[in-house]
Amino acid sequence: MQQWTKLNKETIRTIVFNALEENVNFYDENILGIPGSHLDNKVFYQDAPFLKDAPFLTALIHNPNHIGCHTLGASESFFRGTHQIERELIGLCAEQILKAEPGSCDGYVAAGGTEANLQAIWIYRNYFRNIDGVRNNSICILCSRDSHYSMSKAANVFDLDIATVRVDDNTRAIDEKHLQEVITAQKAKGKSHFIVVANMMTTMFGSVDNADIYAAALEANGCQFMIHVDAAFGGFIYPFTNPDNTLNFQNKHITSVTLDAHKMVQAPYGTGIFLIRKGLMQHANTKEASYVEGEDFTLIGSRSGANAIAVWMILMTYGRYGWEEKTTTLLNRAAWLAAELDKAGIAYYRNPYSNIITIRSEHLNKGIAGKYGLVPDNHQDANWYKVVVMDHVTIDRLIPLLEDLKAYQHEACLAE
Ligand SMILES: *Cc1c(COP(=O)(O)O)cnc(C)c1O
Repeated sequence: MQQWTKLNKETIRTIVFNALEENVNFYDENILGIPGSHLDNKVFYQDAPFLKDAPFLTALIHNPNHIGCHTLGASESFFRGTHQIERELIGLCAEQILKAEPGSCDGYVAAGGTEANLQAIWIYRNYFRNIDGVRNNSICILCSRDSHYSMSKAANVFDLDIATVRVDDNTRAIDEKHLQEVITAQKAKGKSHFIVVANMMTTMFGSVDNADIYAAALEANGCQFMIHVDAAFGGFIYPFTNPDNTLNFQNKHITSVTLDAHKMVQAPYGTGIFLIRKGLMQHANTKEASYVEGEDFTLIGSRSGANAIAVWMILMTYGRYGWEEKTTTLLNRAAWLAAELDKAGIAYYRNPYSNIITIRSEHLNKGIAGKYGLVPDNHQDANWYKVVVMDHVTIDRLIPLLEDLKAYQHEACLAE
């Protein structure tokens, strides 16, 4: 079982420097065959004294390549030290956050949530083609209308149809009647195999799907299906704020999950995390990647090892209990804003375990939205605007917004 006990700065520094030490050193060793090296030394510091206290910056300068998938088979031996850190990070996310059995998952640090979602859909498309011998026209992506646009992108890239299910306007829950209609319509079009994407916090609402509704409906209709969880937004919050939830590897229907460390974890961009039960990653193997030691199972190809190190450093600095405290703080602030909006009679949506509050557009104007950087569901014709309670979004920062909303509400009442 991958441990998640807080480490001090010195230990983290030592582990990262030791890992870099195990990687190839382009200055000391005579490495002649790979198109990679340290970052350009005319532009970037190589031996500035502060670097010895800066493991992440040092990793950036060493520039290890994490091409391929390091939980599976062989990997490039030039970067074996930092690959091990990525392997630990994948184990930690799968086992400590998503309740996987020890060593039961593969995964890698992807460019972002988009790539991780595409990777899942790519694997399941190939799985259905390889195992059941079906063609693309029998396969359909199935998800709710609140799902991220990367599902449409995946449908386009992998040449698959996509069907979206209506959600209730107030609760954002999947409309089960409409789900049945969608399945019936897709079956009539010859679809027999479904790639379901269930959300653990949607981008706009922070709403969470019940994956078992999809599983029950598809089973009742005699369809084949695989379920991927898009936890790009919620993966580093919701499992902590609602630990009894069933969107994890304890649920037999769920075989893969997307997380995004560059959202709530405040890691550098380029830190999507893709996790999948062992035995499935192979369906995305590109055997032609013969010059890569261990071949390549990912969409991306070459990628920065410094990204995996950054996420690992953040999670190990907090430890499980530190992370729980952080998510509790965000949740408390969101609950505070929600309670204040209730008192003021301002309509909004919020999942009680989420740090997103999505306000109905009739309660504000573009001026207020612009002043506080609130994001609309639709830039042409907004129905909703969201507040995301991040680390920097303290109650002191929420108070002026609340005052402006109340004043707007008051004016609207006087005008009536
Ligand atoms: C942000 C987000 C994504 C896409 O993530 P990128 O990192 O921008 O590629 C996918 N799904 C959900 C729910 C998201 O919130």
